Amino acid sequence: MGERVVDAAKAIRPYLPDMLGEDAERFDLLVSGLLAQAEADPDETALRLEQLLSMPPVTARWLERVLADDQLRPPELQQHPQLGRFECPGKDFVWYPRIVGQRAPICPTHGRPLRGAAS
Ligand SMILES: [Zn+2]
Repeated sequence: MGERVVDAAKAIRPYLPDMLGEDAERFDLLVSGLLAQAEADPDETALRLEQLLSMPPVTARWLERVLADDQLRPPELQQHPQLGRFECPGKDFVWYPRIVGQRAPICPTHGRPLRGAAS
């Protein structure tokens, strides 16, 4: 379960501005700060991410729906064919294209292009 929470936390980051508005930046710093410790201490990181994401009702609902999906897709994409999955080489940011040919963003923490493939 812990690893799934960590993966869900990577995937929630592109959605935070829509969910939290002006609080998104501060919240994202907390999320990315925890994700930076995920390899060193996966269990503690998962626990703290779960606590953090459970605080705002909007992210709590999102997390619940993503954890209920076997592929951990964002809720808005669960009813659609998957178009690919992209991840930061620093392993802290995951993004799914919503339309064919959509350009992947840059990781806001590392400023690096995401790796992955459109499927
Ligand atoms: Zn990154």
